[in-house]
Amino acid sequence: MTRREETKKVMVGTVSIGGDATITVQSMSKRPTTDIAGVLNEIESVLLAGGDIMRVSVPDMDSAKALREIVKSSPLPIVADIHFDFRLALASLDAGVHKLRINPGNIGKAEYVGLIAREAKARGIPIRVGVNAGSLPKDLLKKFGGPTPEAMVEAARREIEILEEADFTDIVVSLKASSPKLAYEANILFAEEFSYPIHVGITEAGFGYQGIIASSVGSAMIFSAGIGNTFRVSLTEDPATEVRVAREILRFLGLRDYWVRIISCPMCARAETKIDDIARKIWDQTKNIRKPISIAVMGCVVNGPGEASHADIGVACGKGYSLIFSRGKPIKKVPNDRIVEELMEQIEKFFGKLESNP
Ligand code: SF4
Repeated sequence: MTRREETKKVMVGTVSIGGDATITVQSMSKRPTTDIAGVLNEIESVLLAGGDIMRVSVPDMDSAKALREIVKSSPLPIVADIHFDFRLALASLDAGVHKLRINPGNIGKAEYVGLIAREAKARGIPIRVGVNAGSLPKDLLKKFGGPTPEAMVEAARREIEILEEADFTDIVVSLKASSPKLAYEANILFAEEFSYPIHVGITEAGFGYQGIIASSVGSAMIFSAGIGNTFRVSLTEDPATEVRVAREILRFLGLRDYWVRIISCPMCARAETKIDDIARKIWDQTKNIRKPISIAVMGCVVNGPGEASHADIGVACGKGYSLIFSRGKPIKKVPNDRIVEELMEQIEKFFGKLESNP
């Protein structure tokens, strides 16, 4: 049994985190929470992309009020992200949210934290304690000489103790840093001492390939150590992109695989056509399909089918015509101006109707 499976299980609506539960994927709304329609649109896109849980910020009472409608209409469980004001946490609980993210240390008086803990417990709502290397308490930075893994775990311990004193243990913990190495070391240290489930993430990872690589490197180290129960990739991109990146990372770690994968060759002088356009068109039509099918898009008929003989189905592009193949064996010759349509037709013939399905 991995340390991941030895953690406590908590419920976020109908979704479980921890113990033997599947590693879940989360994202966070980028819209003002008062823009109810905008947030619900994002939630729909996250659901289609394969997300399990959605978090929204609650910076003020208007946002807390908007949560009621969001929770009612959302197909995914909602996490309310609260800082400083215990009344926002109570209002979010009243609005029916499925999880809170608070740092008890910045809520202030112990009686306020106690109040939140009691109300959350009465409703069966878990709380995530979110430690961020960029906002550690000053005394810990002084004691440890900066944002070290030890300082991060100490910060988590403080927050956990406040909740435990209020007799609250449905806790999830995150220890995030923008440095993948620091996040990894903090998570490892934490898991040696605690058995609360871990929310994995590399914070402020950035955008484009830098953000994706930072998230991949950090989270791969953490998950490969046998820890980590729920996952958010934080990118300066839309929420659905965060989810797609998370699910690909989990796929390549062999932890969760339920999506179409496009395999495409890097192209070389033998390539007969611009396969990047074709690969992108196929991806656009299949990116929300929850079937673990591998689809190859290869640049030439001579080497393509052989090089991608492990693919469930694929196309090798030739001069004027292309060859659709499955597991390396040719199925059909098609004109190049119909590659995408013909390949999609064959995919449906082999694997059934492809629907973007939650
Ligand atoms: Fe080159 Fe053909 Fe291999 Fe693509 S499949 S890299 S075009 S040899």
